[in-house]
Amino acid sequence: MPEADMRNRLLLRIAGIALFLAIVGLGGYLLLSPDPFAALRRPEVPAVEVPDWVDVQLIPVDGASRRGEKLDAVNDIVIHYVGNPGTSAKNNRSYFANPDSEVSAHFVVGLEGEVILCVPLDEKSSASNWRNRDTISIEVCHPDETGAFTDAAYDALVRLTAWLCDEYGLTARHVIRHYDITGKLCPLYYVEHEDAWEAFHADVEAQRNP
Ligand SMILES: [Zn+2]
Repeated sequence: MPEADMRNRLLLRIAGIALFLAIVGLGGYLLLSPDPFAALRRPEVPAVEVPDWVDVQLIPVDGASRRGEKLDAVNDIVIHYVGNPGTSAKNNRSYFANPDSEVSAHFVVGLEGEVILCVPLDEKSSASNWRNRDTISIEVCHPDETGAFTDAAYDALVRLTAWLCDEYGLTARHVIRHYDITGKLCPLYYVEHEDAWEAFHADVEAQRNP
């Protein structure tokens, strides 16, 4: 047999053995790995632990306001106003928890600066339309129809938002209004006063700890 033929035959045999080992290896991996396709999935959004100034009062999983669905990602933080002057954070949390309600936010910030967590941070809230899938939502209480926040609510909102930015590696550029998603006049005062919204961004940026 010519030498070239023998070499070809040898190469073919080596290729055959390599293919066999690859198939056995892949088969073994698929059979033995507890979660063989983990590497192909998008990484899960972590359940972040909240600071002690956040009052954790989760609403029940009861349908539209909290479905118990996991967030796909956290790409932005969305600010809202409750649109119901004079109501407290507790009032709004109770409204979300009502079985008839179809809305919720992760956080409600109250008139006195109290902060309630209503929906776990690895789950979707029902506040920001098609962006519920990849945003954290914050509803803020306000004393009157103008929608302006009290100083206490404003300061608490800045602290909360800066903490979230740090936690998720976001800059203030990723802090948006409901208005920026749908054009809804929410949070009203900060849609009608662009300068106040820019000042809020600057205050958040100043409190971040990158
Ligand atoms: Zn809104």
